[in-house]
Amino acid sequence: MMSWTSELVVHDEAIRSNAAYFAAATGGRLMAVLKADAFGHGAIAHSVLAAGATSIGVTSIDEALALRAAGVQAPILSWLNPVDADFAAAVGADIDLAVQSTRLLYAVSRAAARLGRCARVHLHIDVGMARDGASAAEWPALCSVARELEALGGVRIVGVMGHMSCADRPDHPQNRRERLVFTNALRTARRRGLSPSVAHLAATAATVTGVGSGFGLHRIGAGLFGIDPSGTSDRLRPALSLTTTVIRSREIAAGTGIGYGLEHVADRRTNLALLPVGYGDGLPRAASERAEVLVRSRRRPVVGRFSMDMLVVDTGDDLLAPGETVTVFGPGDRGEPTVAEWADWSGTIEHEIVTRIGSRVARIHRSTASGAMAQEVAHA
Ligand SMILES: *Cc1c(COP(=O)(O)O)cnc(C)c1O
Repeated sequence: MMSWTSELVVHDEAIRSNAAYFAAATGGRLMAVLKADAFGHGAIAHSVLAAGATSIGVTSIDEALALRAAGVQAPILSWLNPVDADFAAAVGADIDLAVQSTRLLYAVSRAAARLGRCARVHLHIDVGMARDGASAAEWPALCSVARELEALGGVRIVGVMGHMSCADRPDHPQNRRERLVFTNALRTARRRGLSPSVAHLAATAATVTGVGSGFGLHRIGAGLFGIDPSGTSDRLRPALSLTTTVIRSREIAAGTGIGYGLEHVADRRTNLALLPVGYGDGLPRAASERAEVLVRSRRRPVVGRFSMDMLVVDTGDDLLAPGETVTVFGPGDRGEPTVAEWADWSGTIEHEIVTRIGSRVARIHRSTASGAMAQEVAHA
């Protein structure tokens, strides 16, 4: 058994509440996006399904298979795979596959045929950000090939998906253009003889602002974890708290330089506390000289450059005891810094803060509503 000096507490109740909100807001058409270890939140698939999600979306087949291995029986969609991915394993585990090129479609169809099975496929159109998805120029040919392969029995086109580039800015003219590309793509698919039963365009921002509404499913990731890229919803609850433990404290004289490069120099006699977390645990070094933590109910500044494994905090008149708990971030209801503040301090978005917390930090799932304590240490 390892002993952990830092803990990432996952507030399952907050995630369940966010999932229930989106389930209601979408009329039950909620696909929970749990890519990148559920945005760094770990094992929460069963919670979001219990709260009203009807399916799960991930990028890779490996992520989808891990969810099956964890006992998830709901539909799962995997939308980002190379042509030599293990499509047979995916089809064998009843995983839906999104496909964005004819090459990928042939590969999926071949794998399914070898198993004597029919793969459930969503065709993915790039509606306007030149990232993933078939281009509008490739789309008609992709639909035609899909129809031919359907006739041979290896695939069935059950869905059409797209993903919006500017949905966090509802007034952006690109939103209308992308909806138009998507509805045209759907029409083309039907004209070419396909009959997808579900279309899905909206992620969190497009759902919260409404610019991607009106289709059969909503793929919600960030919002489940209290992150609203549009900054317009006040219904979502953050779901992570990161705490760590004081290793040692010391008093320093005015004029003492702190950390690599001695970039920070104390302007008075003060006390420092050493914390065993750093950029190697996912706290961005760019937040040096800006970040704060909460200890003994007070905000204290992190001083000097971040190290890989350590931070130094100026605790003023308080000489902390080794073993005292320090809150790095949390929902903010006790005055602690939030993930949004950390994103601001480091010039990034909340998504990046929550997905970067490393494996030296224990993940503990806690149900705050029932007051139940640690239920599971996912990385132990
Ligand atoms: C990540 C992702 C989502 C989820 O987006 P959020 O903004 O986190 O809700 C949906 N669809 C695709 C294709 C994605 O890559």
